[in-house]
Amino acid sequence: MAKVSMTTPLVEMDGDEMTRILWKLIKDELILPFVDLKTEYYDLGLKHRDETSDQVTVDAANAAKKYGVAVKCATITPNAARMTEYDLKEMYKSPNGTIRSILDGTVFRAPIIVKGIEPYVRSWKKPIVMARHAYGDVYKASEMAIPAAGSVKLVYTPSEGAEEEVLVHNFKGPGVVQGMHNLDSSIYAFARSCFSYAVDQKMDLWFAAKDTISKKYDQHFKLVFQEIYDNEYKAQFEELGLKYFYTLIDDAVARVVKSEGGFIWALKNYDGDVMSDLVASAFGSLAMMTSVLVSPHGYYEYEAAHGTVQRHYYRYLKGEKTSTNPMATIFAWSGALKKRGELDGNAELVSFGEKLEKASVSVIESGKMTGDLASITTIKDPVTLNSEDFIKEIRKALEAM
Ligand code: NAP
Ligand code: MG
Repeated sequence: MAKVSMTTPLVEMDGDEMTRILWKLIKDELILPFVDLKTEYYDLGLKHRDETSDQVTVDAANAAKKYGVAVKCATITPNAARMTEYDLKEMYKSPNGTIRSILDGTVFRAPIIVKGIEPYVRSWKKPIVMARHAYGDVYKASEMAIPAAGSVKLVYTPSEGAEEEVLVHNFKGPGVVQGMHNLDSSIYAFARSCFSYAVDQKMDLWFAAKDTISKKYDQHFKLVFQEIYDNEYKAQFEELGLKYFYTLIDDAVARVVKSEGGFIWALKNYDGDVMSDLVASAFGSLAMMTSVLVSPHGYYEYEAAHGTVQRHYYRYLKGEKTSTNPMATIFAWSGALKKRGELDGNAELVSFGEKLEKASVSVIESGKMTGDLASITTIKDPVTLNSEDFIKEIRKALEAM
């Protein structure tokens, strides 16, 4: 059988622990036998990040800028325990944070929908894609405890011109106060990423905030979204039959729960943090969430939403065959291959990515799955497989296609 050819390489970012083990299995069993794979390889495993003083992460992000499409394995974000475990020179920043700041993107998370893994919300039939703004607000706020009576003001001192101030509160006794900010550059980039991904996925876009209460701050987000829509995306949306609308966050929550799914839900930083965990859990399993970083300049980086599955890795090191779910990592590969194929006009590569997804879903729907899914499936008498055997079943299904 002739392999599917590629013209432009994918930027391949290898990672850590159990997902690094899955990474190799997926490549060996599901990609290399079928695709004449071209990648530019970057080893983001913690050991190599340390050897290069994290330069490899920067190089990988720049390669993603050069080629446009990357696929990334989960990586360790070092903490104190990892400093000792890996004898690190430095407590490096999260690779995802570094990559995001270079590509200037927004992260979209979507569940993989499979019959037999039912969402807790009965009406949900299609994925709900979560888009969380990843800069500012409460995550970059300044806070103060107020010990006793006194007044607090917000003061803006411009580089030129007169100061402006507004009273926050006249405290009669102790309390707390917080000042937060955001940047137009970041809000515009967020809005553009959302509209551009909606066009890419041919999905409606919802944006929700609380402008009735936050008449300047949230209102500003709302106006930026409307401006970008009217000036840059309205024609494309109408041509594709897509809808964009803004609604209050409490209204959105009610509508999301009653919906069928099948749209992108854009949210400010804190709302997105909370709601994406809620929506992910309600879809059934963290191991079935995919993630894609979309930059407003048209670069894409695909990965699983979960981490390196550390506990399973330690069992693997003791010689145990773990039943770690590779679905989200497989879908990171299929997503990246499909996008690469689309950009290169390579229909065969797109079709391979689609088949890989269908084959993976079909194995689960036939009752064969990893332990995390076997414990929540509605399929009767599921067969629990270890990761390797599960991937081999997918290979069989793929060969049959
Ligand atoms: P995790 O890797 O997401 O795993 C947490 C738990 O969720 C696992 O112990 C496992 O539960 C379950 N789980 C997650 N993915 C699974 C899968 N594919 N198959 C089966 N079960 C799965 O989070 P963590 O253990 O808290 O973090 C480990 C490392 O990942 C950390 O060093 C963190 O920095 C890193 N991390 C990286 C990324 C990224 O690169 N995008 C994201 C998050 C975390 P059971 O043990 O109960 O089976
Ligand atoms: Mg969270």
